[in-house]
Amino acid sequence: MDNLLERQPDGLYCAAGGFYIDPWNPVERAVITHAHADHLCPSSKRYLCTRAGEALLRARIGSEGLIEAVDYGASVTFDGVRVSLHPAGHIRGSAQIRLEYRGEIWVVSGDYKLDADSTCAPFDPVPCHTFVTESTFGLPIFRWLEPTEALAAINAWWRGNRQAGKASVLFAYPLGKAQRVLAGVDSSIGPIYTHGAVETFNRLYRDAGIALAATQYARSAPPKTDWTGALILAPPMAKTAPWLRRFGDFSTGLASGWMRIRGTRRRRSIDRGFVLSDHADWPALLTAIRSSGARRVWVTHGYRAQLARWLEESGLEAHAIDTQYEGERDDAELPSDEAEP
Ligand SMILES: [Zn+2]
Ligand SMILES: [Zn+2]
Repeated sequence: MDNLLERQPDGLYCAAGGFYIDPWNPVERAVITHAHADHLCPSSKRYLCTRAGEALLRARIGSEGLIEAVDYGASVTFDGVRVSLHPAGHIRGSAQIRLEYRGEIWVVSGDYKLDADSTCAPFDPVPCHTFVTESTFGLPIFRWLEPTEALAAINAWWRGNRQAGKASVLFAYPLGKAQRVLAGVDSSIGPIYTHGAVETFNRLYRDAGIALAATQYARSAPPKTDWTGALILAPPMAKTAPWLRRFGDFSTGLASGWMRIRGTRRRRSIDRGFVLSDHADWPALLTAIRSSGARRVWVTHGYRAQLARWLEESGLEAHAIDTQYEGERDDAELPSDEAEP
C-alpha cells in the first residue's frame, strides 16, 4: 500500500483523506497539531484542531477560515480516513494526530514533551504502525532536569535580584513557555509584569481556567514605577528593543532547552540560562517512540538525520523528512551554525 502520508511542497499530505497536517502554505483542509507559528499557516479554508486549542488557533489565523474543533480522542472521518487528536503535552491544546485507513495507523506527534506541565493535558502514547516524530532536541546531550528544579532556580534568581535591588527580565517563548513559568513561579517574591505578546496568550489561558500568577501589563505601568524586585516576562525578540530601557538596573534570564548547550547563553549575552523546554529531551524522544510500538518512524525538524540514524541502528525503519517546521526558536535568532552539533 502507498504511504498514508506524503511530503508535498505544501506540507505533509494525506491523499486518501484529502487533507494536510500542519501545512506551511494555505490549503483546502488543514489538520493542526498546535498553535505555534511554524505549525500553522493562515488563509487555509478549513482547519481541524482540538477544542482546547481552538481559541489559540483563532488568535493566530485571524477571523478568516473555518475551524472545526474536536475533543481529545473523538474522531472525524475524511473520505474513509479516521482522524483523531490525542494529547501531546507540548502547550495547551497540542495534539498528536492519529490517522487510520484500511487497518493502517499513523500518528503525527507534532511537538511534544513527557514532562509535567500544569497548563496542558499530559502526553498520551498512541499505538501505531508509523510514528512521525519531531526531533528539535534529538541529540544525546539534551537532557532536562525536573521542571520543578528549573522553576526553583528561576525563583532563587528572582529573589537574589530583588535583594540586590534589581529587576529580573526573563525571556520565554510567549505561547506555552511563559504560561508554564507563570503557573510555576513563587508570586510572593514580587510583582510580575508582562510584555504584550505574552499577555495576549495569558488571557486565553486564563479564559480556559488555567491558574496563572497575577500579572500586570508592563506598558500600562505608571511612569514612576519602581521595577526593583519585579519579574518581567518578555518574548526573546524583545531583548534588543528599547522596550527594555525603562526597567533600570536588571538581570536577564532565558528559559529554553537551548540553555543546555554551554556557550549559547554567553553568545546571546544573557545573565542566566534556565533549562526549561516544552519539547522532549533525548531520553523522552526515545521513550515516546518506543511506547508508540511503531516499526517505522519518520523524523521531522531538528536533528532529524542524527535521530533517524540512531533509530536505524536500533533496528527500526527510520526516515529523516525535510519539513519547514523550525522548532521554537525561543533562543531568538540563534545563528544556524549553533543549531548543528
Ligand atoms: Zn511547538
Ligand atoms: Zn515545532
